[in-house]
Amino acid sequence: MSDRSEFDAQFMPPVELQESWNRIPAIVKLGHPVLRRQALPVTRVTIETRKLIDHMISTMRAARGLGLAAPQVGVSSRILVYDAGDGLQVLINPKIMGMKGEQLDPPEGCLSIPGLTGQVKRGQELRVKGFDARLRPVSIRAKGLEARVLQHEIDHLDGVLFIDRADPDTLEWSTGSDDDEDEEDELTDAQDEATDELEASSGAASDR
Ligand SMILES: [Zn+2]
Repeated sequence: MSDRSEFDAQFMPPVELQESWNRIPAIVKLGHPVLRRQALPVTRVTIETRKLIDHMISTMRAARGLGLAAPQVGVSSRILVYDAGDGLQVLINPKIMGMKGEQLDPPEGCLSIPGLTGQVKRGQELRVKGFDARLRPVSIRAKGLEARVLQHEIDHLDGVLFIDRADPDTLEWSTGSDDDEDEEDELTDAQDEATDELEASSGAASDR
């Protein structure tokens, strides 16, 4: 990936958002070079890999995010976790096999750029191949929000951020008003319900 540090520097948070920017220190924020690196394929799953995946899942939940890629916790490996409302998924070495259609909404945000949102054109339907937490091959067909989340997280593995793809005119920092928080809650409520049962058994993804 070419050096994007000058580009990224345009998106440092306004002063009033700097505190929330640091709310979850485990998540690497914009400006850290790991976010711009091409992540390395996983060749075997070790105890360390399992620990990393568990850490990613708990970090994603703590942040109430829909997805998280390993570079976002500072590890340049091709691993992502996500839950777009239909349950937790762990995906290793994902590869997009096909994509069709288009979608514009909802606006995207990123746990590595808290507070910033923007409209990103994504494929509506997606076919992805990869491996699960035990390195068994999996094939996923996703559409709508799940397809959007997958494209966003797979981009992270290639050092690509949503600010690279967003319509620049739509990029905006949230004011932190109550209205904005309500919208966020609505987006994440479905996800919380879906993952509650998984939380009962710790490390659900790696124990499958
Ligand atoms: Zn992101």
